[in-house]
Amino acid sequence: MADCAGCVLNIIDFGHKYKTNLNDLLELYQRHNLLSSKRVCEKCGRDVPLRVVKRTGSEGDRAVFACRRRLGGGVRCGWFVSARKHTFFEGSNLNLFEIGYFVVLWCLLPKPLGPNVKLELGFTAKTIVDWCNFCREVCVAWVDAKKKKIGGPDIVVEIDENEFGKSRYHKGRHTEAQWVIGGVERDNHKNFFVVPMEKRDKETLLSVIKGWILPGTVIVSDFWKTYECLEDEGFVDLRENHSMQFVDTRKNGHVMPKDGTSRSTQNIKNRWRHMKSGRSSIPSAGRRKEHFVGYLSEFLFKSTFPLENRVHNFFLAVAELYPPLH
Ligand SMILES: [Zn+2]
Ligand SMILES: [Zn+2]
Repeated sequence: MADCAGCVLNIIDFGHKYKTNLNDLLELYQRHNLLSSKRVCEKCGRDVPLRVVKRTGSEGDRAVFACRRRLGGGVRCGWFVSARKHTFFEGSNLNLFEIGYFVVLWCLLPKPLGPNVKLELGFTAKTIVDWCNFCREVCVAWVDAKKKKIGGPDIVVEIDENEFGKSRYHKGRHTEAQWVIGGVERDNHKNFFVVPMEKRDKETLLSVIKGWILPGTVIVSDFWKTYECLEDEGFVDLRENHSMQFVDTRKNGHVMPKDGTSRSTQNIKNRWRHMKSGRSSIPSAGRRKEHFVGYLSEFLFKSTFPLENRVHNFFLAVAELYPPLH
């Protein structure tokens, strides 16, 4: 468990405070459970504290767990492992500061990130791509762990589908279209979901509704007619046994809204607009289909946390995915 209950980390402070002070940096990482403060020696079982040793080579490898227990006869245990072993930092040539600083830039700067990271840290294009992917993987795991159904008795949820990555002039070379389906509570925009749609059919729609929306919800959409689904068994079951109501956005829809329930799906449509043009929007150029979930998760993470506490929460998400050994 991380000890930090909340902190504000910004780009300038991070650069100032931690670039040349490895002990403070280690303490910051320990507070967020990115590194542990001690490990059990694998040879003799004693608790070994994290310490900084004098070594040449990259700064990251100066933080180690080194067992100095005397075994008698002037012999020491000698078990030794880098602090980075089994952590987010393992297997990289970058030092511990560079990785943290990259994460801070990734969390806080608007896109495109490449020119700024090159200027600040001198990373190669490949390193930047790799670390952007690692950061997005953290967001994918965060989204999975936070999965929570929305709606409930008499709560109105608007759902809609949208296509991402379709080039207006059909020139995007690496871009494949991806359909997504999303829902948002009309009166509480923090409660929403967005998931990729592998197939656009009524079975997929039914499974998304069952997986993401609670019984009793009033669901507003213009899907129903498109998919000809409301008379299907699964939907009848949701209506009759799970008290769901389906409201059609179109005036001639055959399902009438309750009194006073607007037929509009403006709230979910606004969300699509943010996802396509906002500060952390999903890029439509150069995006491969298999990366879509990553970009989507990044968008969801960044739109959940304001800049002030985004780095703190990202560190916690890293610690969930890469818990260090203790
Ligand atoms: Zn914190
Ligand atoms: Zn030992």
